[in-house]
Amino acid sequence: MTSFDFDLFVIGGGSGGVRAARMAAQRGARVALAEAGGLEGLGGTCVNVGCIPKKLYSYAAHYGESFEESHGFGWEGEAPRLNWATLKANRRREIARLNGVYLQLLRGAGVTVLNGFARLLDANTVEVDVVSEDGLITPQRRTAKHILIATGGTPHVPHMKGREHVLTSNDMFDLEPFPARLLVVGGGYIACEFASIFNGLGSSVTQLYRGEQVLRGFDDEVRHFVAAEMRKAGVALHLNAGVLAIHDTPQGLEAMLEGGGSVVVDAVLYATGRVPNVRGLGLETVGVGQGADGAVLVNDVYRTNVPSIYALGDVTARVQLTPVALGEAMVLVDHLLGPAQGKAARSMSYDFIPTAVFTHPTIGTVGYSEAAARQHFGPVTVYRSEFKALKHTLSGSTERTLMKLVVEDATDRVVGLHMVGPDAGEVVQGFAVAMKAGATKAMFDSTIGIHPTVAEEFVTMREPVAAAPKP
Ligand code: FAD
Ligand code: NDP
Repeated sequence: MTSFDFDLFVIGGGSGGVRAARMAAQRGARVALAEAGGLEGLGGTCVNVGCIPKKLYSYAAHYGESFEESHGFGWEGEAPRLNWATLKANRRREIARLNGVYLQLLRGAGVTVLNGFARLLDANTVEVDVVSEDGLITPQRRTAKHILIATGGTPHVPHMKGREHVLTSNDMFDLEPFPARLLVVGGGYIACEFASIFNGLGSSVTQLYRGEQVLRGFDDEVRHFVAAEMRKAGVALHLNAGVLAIHDTPQGLEAMLEGGGSVVVDAVLYATGRVPNVRGLGLETVGVGQGADGAVLVNDVYRTNVPSIYALGDVTARVQLTPVALGEAMVLVDHLLGPAQGKAARSMSYDFIPTAVFTHPTIGTVGYSEAAARQHFGPVTVYRSEFKALKHTLSGSTERTLMKLVVEDATDRVVGLHMVGPDAGEVVQGFAVAMKAGATKAMFDSTIGIHPTVAEEFVTMREPVAAAPKP
């Protein structure tokens, strides 16, 4: 019988890799994990340059409007000014604390943690360029019964003249100096979130999106509504727009626009999607099957075409969200080691995954857009409410809130729930449980609201939106 150094070798210490390594070790497996970003980088994209620092900066940006709005509630005095250096230093301190927590959790569970870039040599062997504390790099080989690829993704910037002047989301958190004028290219999650955040922090933000409306794939009404709110908040959003070239000039970076004209800014952020992080991994050597942009192809238990090698999270380019990578990791551990005592094996459903886009105001959504629901379920009834939140009756803000339910006619089941408004992510999380449980509109109607809240609107919408006239 072949004996291996480890039962499971995890490549990548991000959301999915750390969760899989820790859970597997807690179940008694012999586990190792290699992280290329150094042990001080444990936690991956989400912790270092994604969800967490982004949300901290979003909180920071909200203070700006809160100071202004407080006058309507009787607070007096000049609005405080942002100290960018303080925000960056405090963020750095908190992220370093989290990196330390991740290392402790792994070591506490008995995982062997290696600091270094890992590559596959064969179906059961990994080579890691182990970096010692004094910086020496020594290639070390380890064998494992199973290998998990959890190497995440990396920003993709299209080719164009002046590409060397462009930043990605990775560069934004420690940017120096603070960009008084910022150009954001893209219309997805990152572009819209960073446009809102830097606008809120005080930048003059121009956002260019190549299509008809930002956030392709979201409910159309939500897309139009959030675009209008972002414009009201101060983002200069241009649709059907793009950049031809970028020149460094004495006045700043000049982006030459498709269709003529230019914009001069201090920084240019390209948020034009992310691609799987597979460079140098040795996938071709071992014959691991890959799809578009190099994504590792897996089956429903995250196994690749090489039976001992698995992959999950962003490197598989399916749903790029931290809770999805975590969920996949737990399914994989149950598959490899059996379910935890007294529990059924977990499974992962990609239906009804709730998500939030931390624009200002925030989008929270779960289930189908109106258009996708019509396509998938046939006849649906739509309920919609748009209003000024109670807070803004005194705050002076013109921000409005949108809430929308999409109900399948045949079953009365709520199949889409969408919100643009304050704390939409917090509101939608709870409704996602109800929708996973198959809640019907009648159940929503029989639920008592919490008054006065914005969220109560979801259980008090009675009148459907008039059906579109038949052609
Ligand atoms: P990652 O977290 O990217 O981890 C991969 C790790 O592998 C990295 O640490 C990398 O250094 C390491 N690695 C790569 N190659 C090797 C190698 N060869 N050897 C050793 N180590 C290697 N999701 C949300 O749910 N909510 C949000 O609010 C949110 N905000 C985001 C904001 C931004 C700006 C970005 C970029 C992403 C955001 N995401 C958010 C997405 C989320 O961060 C990812 O879906 C999640 O981190 C994916 O986890 P993962 O384990 O697949 O990969
Ligand atoms: P997205 O795929 O969400 O958006 C990419 C954007 O760039 C789209 O608007 C796309 O346009 C545009 N684009 C792509 N290629 C080009 C090009 N060559 N020129 C101009 N525009 C281009 O990717 P992001 O980078 O914003 O984020 C990656 C993923 O990370 C997200 O999909 C999400 O899963 C995750 N994430 C989650 C967050 C959250 O949960 N709050 C926050 C941030 C990221 P088009 O639509 O026309 O293709």
